[in-house]
Amino acid sequence: MQKIIFDSIRSRVQKQILSSSIIAYRYSHTKQSNSSIVHDFNVISTSIRNSNLFSNHFHKISPLSWLKTLSKEKSVGLFQINDLSTPNGFHILAERAVQKCELLLDECFSSSRRKIVEILDEISDEICRVADLAEFIRNVDIDFSYKQAAEQAYGILHHLVEKMNTNTKLYEHAKQAYELGEGDETDQRVLKLYLIDFERCGIRLNEQNRLKYLQLNDDILHLENQFRHNAHREYKIPIKELPEKVRMRFHEKTITINSAHSNDDDENLREFVFRNYFRFDPEQEQLLDELLRKRYQLAKLCGYPSYSHRALDNTLLNKPEYVSNYLEEIMNAIRPLADRDIQLMQILKNSLHPQSNNQSVSPWDISRLEAIFKSEILKINIQEYTPYFSLGACMDGLNIIFNSLFNVTLNKQATAPGEIWHPSVIKLSVDHVTEGTVGYIYCDLFERKDKIPHDCHFTIQCSRRLKNGSWQLPIVVLHVNIPPSIDPNVPTLLTLGLVENLFHEFGHAMHSALARTRYQHASGTRCQTDIAEIPSQWMEYFVYEPRVVKLFARHYLTGQIIPDELLQRLHLTQNCFQAYRTQVQVACAMFDHAFHSQYPLSQPYDKIYSSLLTKYTSLPYISSTYPYLKFYHLVDYGARFSSYIIARSIASKIWNDQFLKDPLSKTTGEHFRKNFLQWGGEREPNELIGNMFSLTNKLTIDHMTKAITDEIKENIQKRDSLFK
Ligand SMILES: [Zn+2]
Repeated sequence: MQKIIFDSIRSRVQKQILSSSIIAYRYSHTKQSNSSIVHDFNVISTSIRNSNLFSNHFHKISPLSWLKTLSKEKSVGLFQINDLSTPNGFHILAERAVQKCELLLDECFSSSRRKIVEILDEISDEICRVADLAEFIRNVDIDFSYKQAAEQAYGILHHLVEKMNTNTKLYEHAKQAYELGEGDETDQRVLKLYLIDFERCGIRLNEQNRLKYLQLNDDILHLENQFRHNAHREYKIPIKELPEKVRMRFHEKTITINSAHSNDDDENLREFVFRNYFRFDPEQEQLLDELLRKRYQLAKLCGYPSYSHRALDNTLLNKPEYVSNYLEEIMNAIRPLADRDIQLMQILKNSLHPQSNNQSVSPWDISRLEAIFKSEILKINIQEYTPYFSLGACMDGLNIIFNSLFNVTLNKQATAPGEIWHPSVIKLSVDHVTEGTVGYIYCDLFERKDKIPHDCHFTIQCSRRLKNGSWQLPIVVLHVNIPPSIDPNVPTLLTLGLVENLFHEFGHAMHSALARTRYQHASGTRCQTDIAEIPSQWMEYFVYEPRVVKLFARHYLTGQIIPDELLQRLHLTQNCFQAYRTQVQVACAMFDHAFHSQYPLSQPYDKIYSSLLTKYTSLPYISSTYPYLKFYHLVDYGARFSSYIIARSIASKIWNDQFLKDPLSKTTGEHFRKNFLQWGGEREPNELIGNMFSLTNKLTIDHMTKAITDEIKENIQKRDSLFK
């Protein structure tokens, strides 16, 4: 994705499509081991450690190999869903879902009904299995007739969802069952989630207000799309507007600016690019204002004091004041560390431009100075390290990790004609040593022209317990954008950023695959964003853990294991200016939070933005720039951007407290699975975290801040030791 200033943030807004529920369209799209490392590494079955399953598979993969068209044999249907052997199948699936839901709805009102939460979950499952599929098809490069059919199916389901959401009789029945304490703790928890979804959709409103609610919702969706679209807008600038000094370097009439950051040697040009990318855009400011106004009205209509209150309901830090305190505490704690990052950058800048009289570091210098730090100080060279990270080796690495921790193996499965949408897609079964196959992951790994450029996680089918006691197996799509090797003699090689992305998305995929919830509504990644981003961020720690990386990072030509010294340098690259990067991220969470607090705000947006930056960050606010107008996460996260940093604190604590000592310990892996991964949203976020850390009291903001600052401090120490 494009690098703009904010995108130290990963933009993998993980896609949790139609909330599992009948209810809402939710876009956004989880004991210390005593065993020694030696012990656990031996536990990995020899076959896994020596397996080159994926290395062999991917060795021969290149765009050339895809030219062989998909088989012309009779299609078994996408994802082996028979009806989807033709696009028309979507219509059949949607109509069938409608019919089944009607019957299930009748059951809700019958005197001999099952527990109402069971019926609601079945309705939700019927809808989601079609709607999630349709949403996936809308996002992937597939024959247009499928996309069209998916679009139509979506329309049918949208209508059905609307009907269910506004069925007051159904809501009253569900509410009564909840109040009577129907079922056990899990039933109650999931039933409550359904009730919350009903209420968020304004079920308690009178007819007039409900119509108002629906109108606001439509308006908001429209504004969100426009804001997102404009945030990605590029600017064509006539050369004559460029600073005179650099103008002669360009022969074209215009230049295109599609990012805030240029790595150009000339500071004038870097500043020009930054200022122009973040220039004032009255239309976008107007859209932002409209969006925030409507969101505020919607929240008020549903009985919340602000949009933040509504968005944070049921999350880990579930009140705006908790989030404010957390963000402020973390900002104060990392300030001296970020200041140190900037000092170091200043030294670097002075050394590059000795004649420039110590001109201060500016925001437009950051990405260039980082790049120089990596290439000149750490001597990181892509050609040197990527041969150790072929795609196959990384996939073998994932297999080693999951096998060691969870006793599962990723096995490549043959696909039937018509089952996959592109010849490069591979299907993996996740096979547990005693439980058998627990889920399926379709990996769509390679960048393609018509594929959406974001990395995401699509659920196709969620885990849930079936009537006969068996499990509906989760099926997910792991969707990343790795540029394929174009040389048939060289496998696809990954940069560290790509390895991180791959591991991150596998964190989501395993969260879904290892889910063992009674209800699909709360399965795997179908939980609050702050919880959903924990397993994925936890997985990123493995990318820089030498004891693990050495098990899989082998040179694709020589088979040589990656040298220690290179690994150390790679570890430093990840964290060279981590404090400053974190500060930028927290600043974004702060203005996202502030913008959603009330309407109208006490000051204009640019004033709020600039005073936050001035108060908390190590670099000054640059006057007449408006980066918040490019911050499209305002749309997808809306008052919850803090969840990303909250998840990071927890992932850091999980890693450092529990995995660091012995990263591949089966005992720790099992603990993580049994107390966290398998529960999805079926446990309250606080309970989940409490069990994970065996806490009797709540995890406090202090704990969370300490986790992240300790980690940054340690990395700074390692970095600074280079300069002794
Ligand atoms: Zn994610």
